[in-house]
Amino acid sequence: MLLARWGKRAIQCCLDALFPSYCLVCKKEGNVCCKTCKQNISIQEMFLCPICQIDQEFGQVCISCRALSNLKQHIALCPYDMDLVLVQAIDRVKYQFEEDCIQYVEEGIKQLLEKYPEVYEKIDVVVAIPLHKKRYAERGFNQSEYIASILAKQLNISQQKLLQRTRQTKQQALCNKEDRLLNVKDAFAYISQEHVGENILLVDDVYTTGATMQEAARVLKEQGHSVWGFSVARGVLRSKKRRY
Ligand SMILES: [Zn+2]
Ligand SMILES: [Zn+2]
Repeated sequence: MLLARWGKRAIQCCLDALFPSYCLVCKKEGNVCCKTCKQNISIQEMFLCPICQIDQEFGQVCISCRALSNLKQHIALCPYDMDLVLVQAIDRVKYQFEEDCIQYVEEGIKQLLEKYPEVYEKIDVVVAIPLHKKRYAERGFNQSEYIASILAKQLNISQQKLLQRTRQTKQQALCNKEDRLLNVKDAFAYISQEHVGENILLVDDVYTTGATMQEAARVLKEQGHSVWGFSVARGVLRSKKRRY
């Protein structure tokens, strides 16, 4: 056991020497997320109606969109803009497997909850949008689960698996606006668990048209839950007043 641990540490040391990490922001050698740069990030919280994108208190769905949305509310830490550190960080986690970059997101969530401590006071449980088991096996992790566990920890509530992907879907980023709805239709199933609260915070890394989150929220809503949405970044669509 001890030998195995030493061996692992030795391998890690060699890897660090061969492939040193550089801070995502200041490029200093050491860690992809250096302490200074982590503390220097700032959020640009987005409180927009999940459907029509008008400004709403804490991102609540507006009266005119209520019948169209399975989410009661959606909050993002920042707009989807590749110039922003938070967006670069989730991109690096997702596509380059640099899991340490999630620490920037952790700092962003901390800032949101410090600024608006009451925002999630009704939430009982945090749920991540799941990956299909095949994609999970390829990637080895689900970045939305990382984000959900940060939220659960900071809110001091539990994170539960209440959803599973029943079929593989194309990456939403590769679909056009019209295909996104069809792509995720009936892609989720409910996993019943004991002692689940009513109010769920559903978590995904990026919210673009909202099709994935709305479809997952529909499944939860059918089981009697109220669903709030959280994403690190939100893509702002040019055409307003459209169905997700
Ligand atoms: Zn740095
Ligand atoms: Zn609206």
